[in-house]
Amino acid sequence: MASTETVTNGTSTTGGSSDVDYDALVIGAGFGGIRTLYELGKRGFSARAFEAGSGVGGTWYWNRYPGARTDSESWIYVLTFQEVLGLDWDWKERFPTQPEVEQYLNRVTDYLDLRRHIELNTKITKAHWNPAKNVWEVTTSKGKTYTARFLITATGPLATPLPPPFPGLESFKGEWYQTGLWPKHKVDFAGKRVAVVGTGATAVQVIPVVAHNAKSLTVFQRTPNFVLPARNYPIPQDQQMALRRECEAVLGRARTQSFGMDMVDATLKSTDLETDAEIQRVLEFGWEIGGFRFIFETFADMLTNAKCNEAAAEFVRNKIRSIVKDKKTAELLCPYYTILSKRPPLGHFYYEAFNRDNVELVDVSNDPIQAITPTGLRTGTKEYDFDMIIFAVGFDAVTGTLAAIDIRGAEGQHLGEQLNRDMETAYGITAPGFPNLFMVSGPQAPFANIPVVIDNTVDWIGRAVSYMHDHGHQRMDTKEEVARHWKEQVEAVFGMTVLPEGAKKTHSWYVGANMEGKPVRPLFWFGGVAPYFAICDKEVSDGYPGFAFSSDQSSGAVQARL
Ligand code: NAP
Repeated sequence: MASTETVTNGTSTTGGSSDVDYDALVIGAGFGGIRTLYELGKRGFSARAFEAGSGVGGTWYWNRYPGARTDSESWIYVLTFQEVLGLDWDWKERFPTQPEVEQYLNRVTDYLDLRRHIELNTKITKAHWNPAKNVWEVTTSKGKTYTARFLITATGPLATPLPPPFPGLESFKGEWYQTGLWPKHKVDFAGKRVAVVGTGATAVQVIPVVAHNAKSLTVFQRTPNFVLPARNYPIPQDQQMALRRECEAVLGRARTQSFGMDMVDATLKSTDLETDAEIQRVLEFGWEIGGFRFIFETFADMLTNAKCNEAAAEFVRNKIRSIVKDKKTAELLCPYYTILSKRPPLGHFYYEAFNRDNVELVDVSNDPIQAITPTGLRTGTKEYDFDMIIFAVGFDAVTGTLAAIDIRGAEGQHLGEQLNRDMETAYGITAPGFPNLFMVSGPQAPFANIPVVIDNTVDWIGRAVSYMHDHGHQRMDTKEEVARHWKEQVEAVFGMTVLPEGAKKTHSWYVGANMEGKPVRPLFWFGGVAPYFAICDKEVSDGYPGFAFSSDQSSGAVQARL
C-alpha cells in the first residue's frame, strides 16, 4: 500500500507517511475502537480498525443474550467527548438494553463517518514490532499484512468468554448457548426445560427473562452475589430535557465520582452515625434509589471499613430473606463476603424470579457439576435432564483477549505472556518493551464506568501521538520504573480496601481468580477516576518523564499529519 487514507474530522483525504500503510492500526470497534478512530482522525492521523464481529459494538455486539442491558445509567454510558454531544440521541431507559446500545454505537459510527475505516469480520492475528524500521508489522485473519507506526488495542476488558468448563458437552443432544457468544437468531425457551450455569452479572440478567418463558428453569449457583435492584424506568421527557440541558454538569460529576458515574460520592461515614437505625435508614435510601448508588451514595467507608461493609451485606441479606419466599432458597442466595469483592450485578426482579413455581436453585458449591451428559448434566450426587443449557461462566478478563493475539515487542517478547507474568504498565495504557503500543481499557486502568475512562485514555493517546509528531519522534518507550511504580500504586490502593481477601476467595474475575492458573492480583486501579486522570495529565504536563523517545530520522517520523 503506497498511500494512506487519512480521517480528518470525518472527511477523507489522501496522504500520510509513505513508508507505512497507516499511522495507527486499531484492534476492535467497540466503544474503545470507535473513540480511538475518531481521536486519531481529528488529529490528522490515518488509522484503520479491525473488528472480529460482523458489526461494530464490541461487547454490545457479542453479548446479545436475552436481558442484556447496561449497569451504568444510560446518560453516562456514552462517548462523552465534546464533538459527539451534538449527536441527536435520547436514551429510552435508565439502563438501556443491548440492542439500544448497539444501535447507539452504530449511530455514532455513522455520525462521525468512521465506518469506512473499519474492517469487519477480521481479526488481527499477529503484530510484531520491527525495531529496525520502528514500525508495527501486522497480519490479519484474512492473511493481509499492514504496517503502522502505532498499534492500539481496544479489545475491551471482557471480550474472551470462557468456554463451558465441563467434559461431555459434545454429547449433549439439546441446545446449548454461551451468553458471550449469543446467536443473532431468536432463541425460544417456551415449553423447554432450561438450565443456567452461573450467577454472575450476566446470568442475573438472563434468569428473569428465561424464567418467564421456559417450562422450567434450573439455576446452578456456586457463589451467590449481592444483586442490587436496578430500579429501571423509561426516561420521561422532562428528564430527557434536563439531561440535555445539564450534560456538562453530568459529565463533570462522572469525571469526579470515584467510579465514573453520574453520582456524588458519599461523604457520610457509618462511624458518623450513632445508632443502627440511622445506618439502616441510609442503606434503605441506597436500596430504594437503585443501581450502584447503594454502594457509592450511602457510606464513604463502605469499601474501607469492614464493619460498615458487613452492615451493608447483612442489609442485602435481609432484603433477600424478605423477597424470596422459600427460606432454604433465600439462604442459598445470601452471600457471605464483603460487598464489591465480586462485582455486584444489578437485578431486574432477579430474586423475585425464585418465587416462581418453575424456577429452582441448585447449590453446586459443595457438589460441583462434573459433566455434561447427552440429556443434561451431572453433579457429584445427581443427574438432571434439560432441553437447553445456557452457560454464563464468565470471561478471561482484561489480559485474555490481548494474550490471544501474537503481539510481540522489541525483544520478540509476547505481550500477553509478559502481562500475565509481570503485570507492569504505565497507567494501564502502555507496557515496557512494547514501543508505540497503546492499550485502551488495558490492565491496571481504573475499575469504573468504562466509556468515561476510555474518553480519558484515548485523549491521552492522541496527545502522545501528536507530541511525537510535533517533536519528530518515531519511537516511544515506557520506562521500567514508571511501570513498576504504577503496579505498586495499583496494588497498594487495592490493599487499602476491604476487598482483596473476599475477591480471591470468591473467584472474582477482576483479580483473575475466576481462572485456574491465572495470577491473582488487581487487574484494575481502584483509586478513583479523578486521581487517575490527574496522574495521567501530570505525565503529559511534566513532559513524559516516564517515557523515552527516539528520533532516528532514517526510519521516518510520525508524519501523516496534514
Ligand atoms: P462472572 O461474574 O465471572 O460469573 C461467572 C459465573 O459462572 C459465576 O457465577 C461463577 O461461579 C460461575 N461458574 C464459573 N465456572 C463454574 C463452574 N465450573 N461451575 C459452576 N459455576 C461456575 O461472569 P459474568 O456474569 O459474565 O460477568 C462478568 C462481568 O461482566 C461482570 O462482573 C460485569 O462487570 C460484566 N457484565 C456487565 C454487565 C452490565 O454492565 N450490564 C452485564 C453482564 C456482565 P463463581 O462465582 O463461584 O466463580
